Amino acid sequence: MIPRLPTAVLSRSLLSRSLVGSSLPSRRRGFATSKVACKSAVVTGAAQGIGKAIALRLAQDGFDICVNDLEGNSSMVEDVVNEIKALGRNAVPAYADVSKLPQVEAMVETSVNSLGPLNVFVANAGIAQVKWTMDSTEADLQRLFEVNFYGVVYSDQVAARHFIKQGSGGKIINAASAASFRPFLMAPIYGATKAAVRSLTQSLALELAKENITVNAYAPGIVDSPMWETIDEELMAINGLPKGENFKSTKKTIALGRTSVPEDVAKMVSFLASPDSDYVTGQTMLVDGGMVFS
Ligand code: NAD
Repeated sequence: MIPRLPTAVLSRSLLSRSLVGSSLPSRRRGFATSKVACKSAVVTGAAQGIGKAIALRLAQDGFDICVNDLEGNSSMVEDVVNEIKALGRNAVPAYADVSKLPQVEAMVETSVNSLGPLNVFVANAGIAQVKWTMDSTEADLQRLFEVNFYGVVYSDQVAARHFIKQGSGGKIINAASAASFRPFLMAPIYGATKAAVRSLTQSLALELAKENITVNAYAPGIVDSPMWETIDEELMAINGLPKGENFKSTKKTIALGRTSVPEDVAKMVSFLASPDSDYVTGQTMLVDGGMVFS
C-alpha cells in the first residue's frame, strides 16, 4: 500500500494537475493508436535470458535498444544487437558493470549519442546465489547487494537525471523477483536484495512522479534462463537430485502448472514500457504463474 503523502507533496505532484472530468487533456483520455513511435530503451544484462527477451520484445514494439552487459559477454551482446537490427530497429552495444556508477553514466551517454533521446530504462541485470544466511560471507553479501541493489539504484538515478534533463518524462522498470515478496529456498540474501528493489521502486515512484517519470518493477517466478541453470546445478550439488530436477520440481508450486520462459516476463515489461501503463507507478508486478498471492 502506498503511504499517505503529506499535503504539500500532494499539492505539488497531483492536486495541481487537473486529472478529473472534462479538464483531462484529450491525450490522456483516448487510447494510443500504436505502442510506441520511434523511442529508445536501455536494457541492462541483455546478453541472455530475461534481458535478451526484453530487448527483443521492446524492439518488436518499436524501440531502438541499447544492449548492455559485461564486456566478457560481448559476442552474445553483438548477437542480440544483430537480431534487433534484423527486426528493422536500431541497436547499440554498451559494455558496463552496473555496480559501477561511472560505467552506468557512460552507458546512458552511449545510448543517447547513438539512439537519441532516452524514453525507457530497464534495470534488469542481476545475479543469484544458493546459500543459507548462516553460510553467507561478507564478500557474498557485498557482491549480491552491489549488483542487484546498488546496480539498480545507480541505473535509476542516472536514467532519472537524464529524463529530467530531457524534460519529457520517462519510464524506469526494475528487475525484482517473487523473492521480493516471500522467502525462497536457500536464497535469503538474494531475496533481501530483491525486497530492497521493491521498496526502492515504491519510494522512487513517489519521488519522481512530479517529473512525469513512472517507476515500476517486474517480479518473475521460476524462469528457464541461464540463471536457473546455475541455481539448478548448485542445488544438485547439495541435494543430489539429477540435473534439471530441482528446476522441474518447482512446477508443483505454480498454479498454472508450468515454469516460465523469458518471453513471459518480456510481455509484462512491454506493457510497463508502453503508454498503456501511463497510470501505473510504484508497482512490482508478479509474473509467476500463481506462486505468490500478494
Ligand atoms: P541471467 O543470469 O540468465 O542473465 C543475467 C545477465 O545479467 C547476464 O547476461 C549477466 O552477464 C548480466 N549481468 C550480471 N551482472 C552484471 C553487471 N554487474 N553488470 C551488467 N550486467 C550484468 O539471469 P536472468 O534469469 O535472465 O535474470 C534477469 C533478472 O531477472 C535478474 O535481475 C534476476 O535476478 C531476475 N529474476 C530472474 C528469475 C529467474 O527465475 N531466472 C526469477 C526472478 C527474478
